[in-house]
Amino acid sequence: MASVAGVAAAGATLIGAATAHAATNRNGTKVTPSEALHHLKAGSLRWKSGHFEHRDYTPPGHDIIHGQWPFAAILSCADSRVNPESVFDVRQGNLFNVRNAGNVADEIAIGSLEYAVAVLKVPAILVLGHGSCGAVVATQKAVTTGAMPGGDIDAIVDLIRPAIERLPHDHTSAEAIRSNVQHSAQTLLHQSGTIAKAVEAGKLRIAKAVYIIGSREVDFFAHYPAHAG
Ligand SMILES: [Zn+2]
Repeated sequence: MASVAGVAAAGATLIGAATAHAATNRNGTKVTPSEALHHLKAGSLRWKSGHFEHRDYTPPGHDIIHGQWPFAAILSCADSRVNPESVFDVRQGNLFNVRNAGNVADEIAIGSLEYAVAVLKVPAILVLGHGSCGAVVATQKAVTTGAMPGGDIDAIVDLIRPAIERLPHDHTSAEAIRSNVQHSAQTLLHQSGTIAKAVEAGKLRIAKAVYIIGSREVDFFAHYPAHAG
């Protein structure tokens, strides 16, 4: 487990002075954790309604040619129907995307998010699952029948497995997807000192949601936006 300062120092050498600024609201103020979640929620409503604005929270006078100032990091599935810039109606440079099948919090995903938090100073992480997630379905099958998919897909199933095993046998697919999101969010907090300390310091909020492909709706978990864990 690396310290916040250690990760920041390592990251700073990678990107130089590009962290001198942060994502900004339209009035020029720095995006806070709660504002970041609000921007995600508002963007998801624009996506659902079809009234796109392609918002940009890059600080005034700055260009993504010279750096990046994302206002949130998204841990989401690699599913081709769940691309965050579309779902949250923002431009390039606004979201630090960590994607893999099943939105699992493995070592590489956690390391990527630690970089976003410690170096890029993102004020929010959203763990985003989605309906009809093949990785979750494969894990449900593995838990129920013992049949593993094979190859390195097994590594994904093993990471999702605890989220399924803690549910009753007659759980629904929606419950399985939500449990997997919850499990990934818990893993971030439990396995990353960098992320946990940023949350404790009030510099970072972790939110959870499920994207419903059919309705284009992002269903933020209960307690939004007050609950960080
Ligand atoms: Zn998926």
